Amino acid sequence: MANLLTGREAITKLQEGNKRFTEDKRVHPHQGVDRRLEVMKGQTPFAAILGCSDSRVPLKIIFDQGIGDLFVVRVAGNVVDDIVLASIEYAAEHLNVPLIVVLGHQNCGAVQAAVQGGHAPGHIPALMDALQPALEEARTQAGDDLVEKAVRANVRLTADAIRNSSLLSQLTRDGRVEVVGAYYSLETGRVDFL
Ligand SMILES: [Zn+2]
Repeated sequence: MANLLTGREAITKLQEGNKRFTEDKRVHPHQGVDRRLEVMKGQTPFAAILGCSDSRVPLKIIFDQGIGDLFVVRVAGNVVDDIVLASIEYAAEHLNVPLIVVLGHQNCGAVQAAVQGGHAPGHIPALMDALQPALEEARTQAGDDLVEKAVRANVRLTADAIRNSSLLSQLTRDGRVEVVGAYYSLETGRVDFL
């Protein structure tokens, strides 16, 4: 099943849903039994989104979407590794999503932890390591708020990593998919595409 939207149209659809969310006018689309049955045998989500696991950033709610609309990957700090990349490649290559969004957010705890540094237990150092390039880039930039700068640098670097991966760079060149960064404000609920 081919996806009928272009990347730009998919951004517009996300912006419209986010506007409904910020204005408290959500319509909760595609959440009934009819939709569940409609997509039972196949999905054609109109966007793939890599977002943070943070409980305050529920992607389908902030974009006012429902069943079968968004292909979602969530991992603390919205970083990319081979497994995350595989999920995104599946969405682009197999499900033909026209748009991939990397969504960072205000007051990201993962980024705050990376900024603070120090000892972290268990597997958490792997996440801190993944955020280091964003932190280093943020430290070279003017301005006081290192966490906010690092959140935005992380979105940019993650989007670049996705865009430059072998499969997705080919799909991007072919015009089949667009990769964009975005930022979510916990305070206003607004998503700004970067
Ligand atoms: Zn976060």
